Amino acid sequence: MKILIVNAGSSSLKYQLIDMEDEQTIAKGLAERIGIEGSKLTQTANGKKFVAEAAMADHVEASKFMLRALTDKEVGPLKDMSEIGAVGHRVLHGGERFTASVIIDEEVMDAIAENIPLGPLHNPANLMGIKACKQVMPDTPMVAVFDTAFHQTMPPKAFIYGVPFEYYERLRVRRYGFHGTSHRYVSARAAEFLGRRYEDLRIITCHLGNGSSIAAIDHGKCVDTSMGLTPLEGVIMGTRSGVLDPAILQYIMNNDNIDIDQMLDILNKSSGLLGISGISSDMRDIDNAAAEGNKRAIITQEILYTGVKKYIGAYAAVMGGVDVIVFTAGIGENGPRLRLKVMEGLEFLGAKMDEQKNEVRGKEVDVSADDSAVRVLVIPTNEEIVIARDTLSLVTQH
Ligand code: ADP
Repeated sequence: MKILIVNAGSSSLKYQLIDMEDEQTIAKGLAERIGIEGSKLTQTANGKKFVAEAAMADHVEASKFMLRALTDKEVGPLKDMSEIGAVGHRVLHGGERFTASVIIDEEVMDAIAENIPLGPLHNPANLMGIKACKQVMPDTPMVAVFDTAFHQTMPPKAFIYGVPFEYYERLRVRRYGFHGTSHRYVSARAAEFLGRRYEDLRIITCHLGNGSSIAAIDHGKCVDTSMGLTPLEGVIMGTRSGVLDPAILQYIMNNDNIDIDQMLDILNKSSGLLGISGISSDMRDIDNAAAEGNKRAIITQEILYTGVKKYIGAYAAVMGGVDVIVFTAGIGENGPRLRLKVMEGLEFLGAKMDEQKNEVRGKEVDVSADDSAVRVLVIPTNEEIVIARDTLSLVTQH
C-alpha cells in the first residue's frame, strides 16, 4: 500500500508518499506560502524535482496541487490518486483524549478542534489539512498521529504542575509533552539496534532540533518529558526560552510596559539560541561564531550543553539509572561536540564516550566506549515512518 503523510502548518503543507512494501519514500513535497502572495509547490520524486509557482488560496487548493503533482504525467510517481491507500496526518495536540493514533472520523475531528486552546497555532492548521484532504480524497481512509500521545503514560507526579489542582480539573493545565512520535521511534529503534527487549530498558531520548525535548522511557513507557503544556518548556531551543522563573514575566512586562502576548512572543520567537547569542537560531551559526571566539556564542553553547545534561541527570534519578541515552534530530544527530560536552561528567552514571566513534553525523551509531555500562547512541529520527506504520496498521485492521 502507498501511504501519504501530511503535516499541515498554518501556511504550509508538507507531504511524503511512502510505499509500505519496502518503506521507501517515493515522493516528498512542500506547498508553502498558502494564502499568501508567492505561494509555490516543490516536489521531488524519482530524482525529479518539480516546482510550480501558482496561487493557492487555501489548504484545499494546496491539496489539489499536491495531488496534481503526485499524478503529473511527467514528474508524478502515481498514475492515479486511487493508488493512495490511506493518509496519515500529523497532529500536534491530542490532549488527554488520545493515547495512540486513531482513524479520523467526525468525532475525532471535533476532539482535535476541542484541543485548539491547548495548541492554538498548530491544531487549527492540522485540522485544515485534514479537512482539505477529505475534500479532495473523500473515499481515502485517514489517520491522525498525535505529537502528545506517546507521553500519555506519564504518571501524575510527572504531569501535575505546582499550581492549584483546580487548574488541572477545570482548564486541563498539565504537562503533555511533544515530539512523541520521534521519542517513540528512536527509543524503540535503540532497543532493536542493541538487540534488547524494549520493555527491559531505561532509555533517555534527547531530541535536539529547532525545537528540543528530552524524554525518560522506563521499561517501555514514557515517564517524564521536558516540554509541558506547550512546547515552550524544557531546554533552550532555536528561538524558545525553555524553562524559566515565571516571575520574570511580570518583571519584564511591568518594566517595559508590554502585554502578555508580546511577552509570549519574545519567549517563543526571540529567545533561546537566537536571544542569548544575538547571532542566530541555527546551531551551525552559533558553533561557527563560538569557534571564532565569540563569547556570547560560547555561553549559548554551554547553556544548551548544561541544560541537556541536567535533564539526563534528573531522568536517570527518576528511573533509578539509565541503560541507553539517544541523541537525535538536527543538533543531536549532527553535533559530535555537543554530545561529548553533554556527556562530560556523566561518567558517574556509567556512561563513557568513544571520541572517535562519536565523530559521526546523521547515522545510526553506538558512540559509547566498549566498556561503557550505558550505551550512548545516535539514531536519526524518522517521524514519517511511524506515522506511515500507524496508518497502515489502523486502516488494515478496519
Ligand atoms: P526541526 O525541529 O525544525 O525539525 P531539525 O531537527 O532539522 O529541526 O534541527 C535543526 C537544527 O539542527 C538547527 O539548529 C541546525 O543548525 C542543526 N543542524 C543541522 N545540521 C547540522 C550540522 N551539520 N551541524 C550542527 N547542527 C546542525
